[in-house]
Amino acid sequence: MAKAVMVYGAGISGRGAAEVLAKRGQQVYLYNDTPCNLDAGLTSQLAAHGGGLVVGKDAYKKALGSAELLVLSPGIPCDSENVLFAEAQGVETISEIELGYRLYGGHIAAITGTNGKTTTTSIVGEMFKRLPVPSAVGGNIGLALSKEVEQLPKEGWLAAELSSFQLEKVKTFCPDIAVVLNLTPDHLERHHTMAAYGGAKKNIFRQQGAAQVTVLNYDDPEVRSWGAETKGQLCYFSRKTELPAGIFMQNGNFVIKWNNKTEVVCNVEELHLFGGHNEENVLAAIACGYFAGVSVEDMADVLRNFRSIEHRLEYVKTIKGVPYYNDSKATNTDSAIKALEAFPKGHIILLAGGHDKLTDLAPMMALVKEKCDALILLGEAKERFHKAALAAGVENIVLADSFEDAVTKAYAMAVPPQVVLLSPACSSYDMFKNYPERGRRFKELVQSLPL
Ligand code: ADP
Repeated sequence: MAKAVMVYGAGISGRGAAEVLAKRGQQVYLYNDTPCNLDAGLTSQLAAHGGGLVVGKDAYKKALGSAELLVLSPGIPCDSENVLFAEAQGVETISEIELGYRLYGGHIAAITGTNGKTTTTSIVGEMFKRLPVPSAVGGNIGLALSKEVEQLPKEGWLAAELSSFQLEKVKTFCPDIAVVLNLTPDHLERHHTMAAYGGAKKNIFRQQGAAQVTVLNYDDPEVRSWGAETKGQLCYFSRKTELPAGIFMQNGNFVIKWNNKTEVVCNVEELHLFGGHNEENVLAAIACGYFAGVSVEDMADVLRNFRSIEHRLEYVKTIKGVPYYNDSKATNTDSAIKALEAFPKGHIILLAGGHDKLTDLAPMMALVKEKCDALILLGEAKERFHKAALAAGVENIVLADSFEDAVTKAYAMAVPPQVVLLSPACSSYDMFKNYPERGRRFKELVQSLPL
């Protein structure tokens, strides 16, 4: 490439893309809206090929004059002024995912959806490790895709977690297997309409043909309807319906029915993961493993050994016969609802609250009334949650003075067969840097409770 490449955004994806391109001898300008520090290694790699860090609008426009390609980090909206300016100048704009795809050329199972991406991608990543070829995990999961594929040969397999942001600016991207888990309203501040949000997600299978497989959730009416739009081989998965062909559940078994052959992978009772939502994630992961050539025995072994990922219905410890679960990732009411539904016997002591997202609380509080023996409220959202809980007829409501106080209060009241669940339905910014920090603090507090 004679001209330079501009990479927009110096986060995980942007730094990864810049590094990979510079290693290939490309002149790279890494642009960030605000000043930031690059490590010395990356700075000298960029400088070695005439590139470097660029900050501020004027510098952006100047550097763009010598660029032929603009690679967007997922956080950069496609309709931002800088991006529109680049397009008006005739500079091709692509996402970091498209860049990774162009640099790679090996096998990919790509996974998107509003919820369940990280869980599904992690399971698929474990399944791919059983293949006789190298494999990796990348994308939204916190590892720049372009960097992860660097080490993979053409026969390798990549499990890619993709957000709608990352799928906005893909062009030739055509994974061997494309999965859509579900679609519920989210990120409308960026995509503006559900149609645009869904449209970005559909990019995951838009380039597919008869040699690729599109895996869609049959139980999600919107996602199911997308089956009419793909040119890939269509494989549905379902928790609720025994499909004529596809991946589904039958008497608690995960079943593959494809090419007139039926195989049972394992039973839901054998898993450490729990909750109906995770059954969907497992079905989708099985589809990926199956079409990538992982044996049914290996898939079963992976599933039997897979523990929940950190902060997602994560089992922490049992104290005085009461298990404690950390679901700090539940930053909205939808996720908290999934967590409550995952305990069919109820008897939950729920710790909820934090930075309030001001969404409707009625559906969640109806379930709290049904499933919870007590509701302990904390954080900024405390008062509004309290009102909504009272309106739903929740009886045992306790207001905590602090995060620590909430855990202490739960401990003081919990007796078997109750469970203590942190599933805040709020983001953490009122008390913590992010949800992992909140989850880790919860686990520390639980670990320090007297046995
Ligand atoms: P993502 O990466 O898409 O944010 P995660 O796998 O990290 O998804 O799960 C985040 C939360 O979303 C979980 O704690 C759970 O509450 C909810 N969730 C997970 N899988 C699903 C699913 N298949 N359907 C609906 N909700 C889900």
